[in-house]
This record gives sequence, structure tokens and C-alpha cells, in this order.
Amino acid sequence: MNYISTRGQAPLAGFEEVLLTGLAPDGGLYVPEAWPALTADDIADFRNRPYAEVAARIIALFTGEAFSQAQLLDIAGAVYGRFDHADVAPLTKVGAEDWILELYHGPTLAFKDFAMQFLGRLFDEVLARRGERLTIIAATSGDTGAAAIDALKSCAHVDVVVLHPEGRVTDVQRRMMTCVDAANVQNIAVAGSFDDCQAIVKELFADRAFVSQVRLGGVNSINWARIAAQTVYYFTAAAAVAETGEGVSFVVPTGNFGDIFAGYVAKKIGLNINRLAVATNANDILHRAMTSGDYAPAGVAPTLSPSMDIQVASNFERLLFEVMGRDADALRVKMDGFKRDGAMRLSAGEREAISADFLSYATSEDETIAELNRHFEATGALIDPHTAVARVAAQALRQQGALSGKVVTLSTAHPAKFPDAVMQATGTTPKLPLAHRDLFDRPEVMTNAANNTDAIKQAILASIEQKA
Ligand SMILES: *Cc1c(COP(=O)(O)O)cnc(C)c1O
Repeated sequence: MNYISTRGQAPLAGFEEVLLTGLAPDGGLYVPEAWPALTADDIADFRNRPYAEVAARIIALFTGEAFSQAQLLDIAGAVYGRFDHADVAPLTKVGAEDWILELYHGPTLAFKDFAMQFLGRLFDEVLARRGERLTIIAATSGDTGAAAIDALKSCAHVDVVVLHPEGRVTDVQRRMMTCVDAANVQNIAVAGSFDDCQAIVKELFADRAFVSQVRLGGVNSINWARIAAQTVYYFTAAAAVAETGEGVSFVVPTGNFGDIFAGYVAKKIGLNINRLAVATNANDILHRAMTSGDYAPAGVAPTLSPSMDIQVASNFERLLFEVMGRDADALRVKMDGFKRDGAMRLSAGEREAISADFLSYATSEDETIAELNRHFEATGALIDPHTAVARVAAQALRQQGALSGKVVTLSTAHPAKFPDAVMQATGTTPKLPLAHRDLFDRPEVMTNAANNTDAIKQAILASIEQKA
């Protein structure tokens, strides 16, 4: 399996390189040179199989020669065995043709564990093989950081640096990052937004001298291996709710367009998906792009669903590449224009191609609060605000007639990660699972930095020097 860059100016890369580098050297994103394909029989065979087995089978489509099927099965067994639910990604029925897919049973209570735990093992294996050491940098809107730290804290060959926007993540989210006692972890609170953190990471990667000096690698949602690992639960969910292989739609709370792009990949490689619905909060650039063609970032508005407080959705470039017929030259011109003008327009043809697979809805804060409460009253169970954003979208799109048949809504975080929002809406405080009950008794370790790439560079160099 070879990978190409969406911008067309990077050499072909194998899975190991794609795993270790994240971003392609021409600034583009890696995608498979050709889509692998599963048959309807392959997919039907996933029904009733353990999650880890399906995961190994699907991820093997993307790893090429880098890992054997037996190695992947070992890794998947170890990774998903740590989840606190036997089904790993259990479904709850919430309506005649509606389900919620619970993706928060991993060690840091958000869906990011599915990919990140897997990546941690892949990194350690590949780096041990090569006798190399890597500095992993991640920008986080709240959940990626904790997932990366938990996944990498015991890796012998990796240092981890996580940038989070100061004051814009919940206390539980922050403590899940800063209360981890591990010598290879550095947390930096940046005086800015998530988009600022993401821009700093991009600039660090653009500095080739710095990249090779500290052996910089990335695990942000642009990392192809994360997308690959996230395709798995689309298959297991569809297998569980669509006995005869009929089409299923998915509603996905979306920020960086990573999770929903994994759904698109599942469709590309053979899964019968009717529609993929993007659910955004007030930071609705994707909804605006899909409905009016205007991909124009506004300021980031803090909301009750902070992991989606994002304007520039990095993975959207991968979808554009597909709907532009994989024309890397045309895409490069478009992305250069976006960098220059700070905005871009989608053509009518591009919008039409997108709407063949996607729908979108922007949920307001009032709707989110009402849904948190409605869901609790109706079912007695609490959901988190990101899930509420998506449930509002699912119900509204069904009512509009845009969605019909079986619909699975992705539940991306445990409600206890967002206790204030849940309490505000329902009057009930969600309890942290047992493994996290001492979170507020542990000491926090982090540094603060200005919203400035040089300041971050100095902080990383200083911490590496200290260890040397
Ligand atoms: C990261 C995150 C999202 C958004 O996922 P993307 O892949 O960035 O679209 C949604 N919900 C939660 C809880 C998250 O942590």
C-alpha cells in the first residue's frame, strides 16, 4: 500500500513513513494511492465477530507490508481489551430506527482513544525496529491531548508535547492531560484558540531544520493511521443494525472532519452507507461550506462542545481532493488561494459531489441544552454536549426528510468530561467512571506559553536539552 499527498509534490510513501510523519513534506495530507476494497461477503462476515478481530482485518488493508495480520490482531486485542465495555463500541437503541454508538469506553473517555491507543502501539513497534526516537507534537481542542498522552506515556521511544488553548478546555479535560506523571510528557497551555495551536503545529512542521533536529512526528487527526483505525466502528455498527446489509446513515459531531472522513473511507472501501451527516455547533464553517459554498473561517466562538470549537477543518482537504477528481494540481492552487485570502469557494460541481454523500446541520447552544435535558428526561441516561449536538442534527434532518431509514448517531465523549454543561442543562452531575475518581486529587504539571511559534520551539528545545 502506497500513499500520495493531496498536493501532489511529495514522493510516494509507505505506511511506516505516513505513520511517523503525519503531514506530507509538501504540506498536503497523505491518502492511499488507490482505495482498497472489501466485498459484501467480507463485510457480512464482520457480524458478531469481536471488535478487535474486525479492527485487525480492516486496518490490515492500510498497513501493507509494515505489519502482519497476527501482529495487528495482537495489538488490537491488547488495545481494545483495555476498554471498559465488552462490546468496545456498544449501541443503544433510542428510537424505532435510531441508535447511539457509544465511543467513550476507552481510557480517556472519548472516541479518540480508538485510534490513539492503536497508534501508540504501532509507533513503539516501528521505532523499536528502526532504533529511532521521536518527538510527537499534538494540538488539542481538549480530547486528543489526553488520548495521545495516555497512549504514548509508556512508549519507550517517544516524547510527547501537547498544546492546548489556555482556559478553553474543561477542568476534567485539562487534568486528564496535566495530572499524568510521566517523564516523556510535556503539556503547554497556549494563550490562544485551538486554531492557533493547530497553526503553530503546522508552522513547526514547515520548519524542516527543526523537524529533523527534534525528530518531529504528529498524531493529529491528519495522521492517516488515525483515520484508518476510526473506519472500524462504522463497520461494526452497520453490521449490528443492518442485518441484511441494507444502507445505514451516520450522524457525526464534527470539528476537524477526521471522524466523519473515516465514515467516508468506510463507504469508499465498500460499506453500504446512505448518508453521512456533519453536525457542527455554532462554529459552522463546514455547514456553511456545504450549503452555500463559502469556506470562510469566522472567529472561533467558545461553546458547550469545545472539542468542536474549530474553524479550519484540516481533513476537509482530503474530501476536496476526492471531489476534485484527485487533481492534486488544482487542489494545490485552491489551498494556496485559501492560505493567501483566508477563504475559498467551492464550485457548484464540488458542492454537488459532496452532497451525494453528505448532509449537514448546525446546532445552536439552545438546541444543545434542550436536547441534553430532553434525552435525560426521555431515557434517564446522560449524554455529553457533543453527542447532543449530533442528536439534534439527527432529529432535525429526519424531520426535514433529508435522512430516512436506519440512523446511527456517534456519541463521542462520556458526559463526565463535560460536567458543567450537563449539570446546567439537566440539574444532574454525571459521575466519572471509577478509574478516574481521584482526578482532582492529583497534582498538575504544565507550562504556559504565548501564542507564538518561536516561544513553543524554545520550550520544546529546552525540555529536550534538559533530558539529554
Ligand atoms: C475531537 C472530537 C470531536 C470532533 O472530531 P473530528 O474528528 O475533529 O471531527 C467530536 N466530539 C468529541 C468529544 C471530540 O473529542
